[in-house]
Amino acid sequence: MQQYREIKARHQDAILFFRMGDFYEMFYDDAETASRVLGLTLTSRNNGGAARVPLAGVPVKAVNEYLRRLVAQGFRVTICEQVEDPKLAKGLVRREVVETITPGAVFADDLLDGVRNNFLCALHQAGDAVGMAAADLSTGEFRLIRTTPADLEAVLARLAPGEMLVTRGAPPHHAIAARGEENTLITEREAWEFDAALASEELSRQFGVASLEGFGVGAEDTVAVSAAGALVRYLRELQPGGVPHLARPVVERPGNVMPLDEMTRRNLELVESLRGGETSGTLLDVLDRTMTPMGARALRQWILAPLSSRAAIEARLDAVEALARDALARPALRSALDGVRDVERLASKAAAGRATPRELGALGASLARLPAVEEAARRVAGGVEARSARAAADGAAADDVEEHAGDRSSGAIDDCLVHWDSCADLARDIAHTLVEHPPLAIGDERTIADGVDEELDALRALRDGGKDGIARIQAAERARTGITSLKVGYNRVFGYYIEVTNANRHLIPPDYQRRQTLTGAERYVTPELKEYEDQVLTAAERIEARERALFEALRARVGAAIARLQRVAGVVAQLDVLSTLAEVAEREGYVRPEMTDEFALEIVGGRHPVVERMMPREQFIPNDVRLTEDARMIILTGPNMAGKSTILRQIGLIVLMAQTGGFVPAVRARLGVVDRVFTRVGASDNLVRGQSTFMVEMSETSAILHTATRRSLVLLDEIGRGTSTYDGVSIAWAVSEHLHTVTGCKAVFATHYHELTQLADELEAIRNYNVAVREVGERVLFLHTLEPGGADRSYGIEVGRLAGLPEPVIARARELLHQLEGRRKANGERREAKGERRDEREERREVDGQLGLFAWAPDPVVERLREVDPNLVTPMQALQLLMELAEELERRG
Ligand code: ATP
Repeated sequence: MQQYREIKARHQDAILFFRMGDFYEMFYDDAETASRVLGLTLTSRNNGGAARVPLAGVPVKAVNEYLRRLVAQGFRVTICEQVEDPKLAKGLVRREVVETITPGAVFADDLLDGVRNNFLCALHQAGDAVGMAAADLSTGEFRLIRTTPADLEAVLARLAPGEMLVTRGAPPHHAIAARGEENTLITEREAWEFDAALASEELSRQFGVASLEGFGVGAEDTVAVSAAGALVRYLRELQPGGVPHLARPVVERPGNVMPLDEMTRRNLELVESLRGGETSGTLLDVLDRTMTPMGARALRQWILAPLSSRAAIEARLDAVEALARDALARPALRSALDGVRDVERLASKAAAGRATPRELGALGASLARLPAVEEAARRVAGGVEARSARAAADGAAADDVEEHAGDRSSGAIDDCLVHWDSCADLARDIAHTLVEHPPLAIGDERTIADGVDEELDALRALRDGGKDGIARIQAAERARTGITSLKVGYNRVFGYYIEVTNANRHLIPPDYQRRQTLTGAERYVTPELKEYEDQVLTAAERIEARERALFEALRARVGAAIARLQRVAGVVAQLDVLSTLAEVAEREGYVRPEMTDEFALEIVGGRHPVVERMMPREQFIPNDVRLTEDARMIILTGPNMAGKSTILRQIGLIVLMAQTGGFVPAVRARLGVVDRVFTRVGASDNLVRGQSTFMVEMSETSAILHTATRRSLVLLDEIGRGTSTYDGVSIAWAVSEHLHTVTGCKAVFATHYHELTQLADELEAIRNYNVAVREVGERVLFLHTLEPGGADRSYGIEVGRLAGLPEPVIARARELLHQLEGRRKANGERREAKGERRDEREERREVDGQLGLFAWAPDPVVERLREVDPNLVTPMQALQLLMELAEELERRG
């Protein structure tokens, strides 16, 4: 307990798993917490004195499951192992902390999701600059990110860190508070750990360099370096064995990628669906046909970080086009990628000395596939060159060549090939050293192949030659003694023995020592037999030790090549994503978007990539959308269920898919690169954050108005719905005016406030569109086609009918609607007769007012109650009144 207390004192903020034989034990508060969270039985242990110590334990074999649950709930767990063999220990077994697992710092596969990164982020703010460092302990990925307070939320939404380090006592940024609610563990660290000079030293030491300049880190990145220093220091604390696999940092600066805020990411359902956050029904789900876990993680990162520079987008598009066109090389590339395991995580484990024989074998097998990957990639690049040479020889017009810029370069594939390294030496080393199917752990099954090491081979011969050895000794002893019935055998208690029947006892030589007497026979040993026994018995142990040494040496050789392995893993991930985008483009009939630096956005025959997949082929109705400088904003009206939200989202998705570098679901698309896409869709309840729906709606709208620029694309679906009609229309109107006139961006606003269609009369660059329906009798047929002009009806009652509202309710609603519309018409005609301009908005307001009176005409019962002054009535009068009211209600049934 003293040893426990000493170790616990250094790990106060974690649950300490204290290894005792086959269990990890927890004591005191840790035991109580664990028993509550994990449902373990809480026992107690007598601590010598009167006090009993609460105790709970988990079996070592099942530890990962318990760790997973604790970490998922935001706990840290420190693992303390026995670091010497209890059999050999004199006195107390030595114990040491080997690692601390936190939601942001996880290594074991069972605790990780293969298709997503698990980032630990550190944050440092200096004035208006925000520096961030992000590391994934399982893959070794390490980034330095410089951003701004305004974009911080978007960066965090993209990385979705499991844990964040912040300066103790620093004023909390709202984006961090929001992450805290998203289940990110917030860990406070001392201010000095973020010191820039110290951080720079820390990083230089970690990577063994004199200065950070070689990483492309400039003076302006100092805030990010400060954060990285604190992060590396923390990681070393969690991993006392060090983090040798941490990759050299990649520097990300503002402007490289498009910041995507949380609401846009959610509303467009990029990687998580609005319902429950699962992947199905998302863009990621449609696109993810990656073959490797690295590819899957990279695709997710690409979707969450669309590019903002046209050149970078074109490089990816070129590659996707080359792959999409090459119907032979693409499948070859994809089948070569199939079977490449998680090289990135496996290599990290090797470097950290954690990879098991099986994992190292898997890494070797994956590396062995890389030459085929390279060959297929080179074929794609070669195909592009050949095509462009042919085009040149055919004397294609210069414009033509220009138009098919993709013909001349395979873009991002070329970049991949420049950095290509199949790591063939490592693949050979692993294949040569390990058996074909290495076991989970060194022990019973063989790990190291025959012929690798002479000593190992000799030991194996000794162990496996056991039977031959016995036969040899038996034959020799028979010859020496002349006893033909002499037998050599083995039993657990006495080991190897020579058995001689009583009839032959007189023949035994003097060096036979008696060990055991049986009825009718005696058992003996000789010094020679004893020596043989020693050799055989220790052979297994020596084989294990030798195998371990050879395996660890191999793992260290592989681990030392971590930087090469990480690089090739990154390249494989890229090829995987590019070929996936090409594959999906081919299967789903997507086209290459034409990217421009102009303002205009033109989509012909655009489709929603997710919704179209949910219905039989060809059933989805494509639509055209055009937003140009002089017609940059669309007010989109139309009945409920017509498809307004679908069109709105489809525009956003097409733009984001294009800027990710992928093809888009359309017949043709010509897109001016945008700097941001903003969406505000529906009323997303945010009760968890304790804000009213309307408050959330307004703060989201406010964020858009503050951040959007002329180059942004703003998609609004219903704003101002969460309040009274007049307030709502007024806000929606003013927001539209602001976006049109002040921001001047491309915008689409879907709404049921038909009043807003009048904006088109007042503001030059606003156009009305509606999603068409056709009325057939009292029924409505949804055409899902976009057409110019505003809609004036919502057909809400029809949707209510479809949703199964009781027939009397539908009938009554229709009756009321007729009355209201009748009045509106009458009012309008009256105005017209008086020569006044018909103002539809005004008419609607009047009718709304009447509706209020009409729908809430005072009830006589309520009226009578209102007349009563309780201070003036006698009990008798009150009783009388009560009876009358009851009768009245009774009469009404
Ligand atoms: P509301 O105003 O009630 O929110 P909405 O006009 O926004 O409705 P959506 O939610 O976009 O309507 O679409 C309703 C349904 O119509 C979709 O779930 C989809 O099944 C279908 N739909 C939408 N657009 C199309 C289309 N272009 N082709 C075929 N079906 C479509």
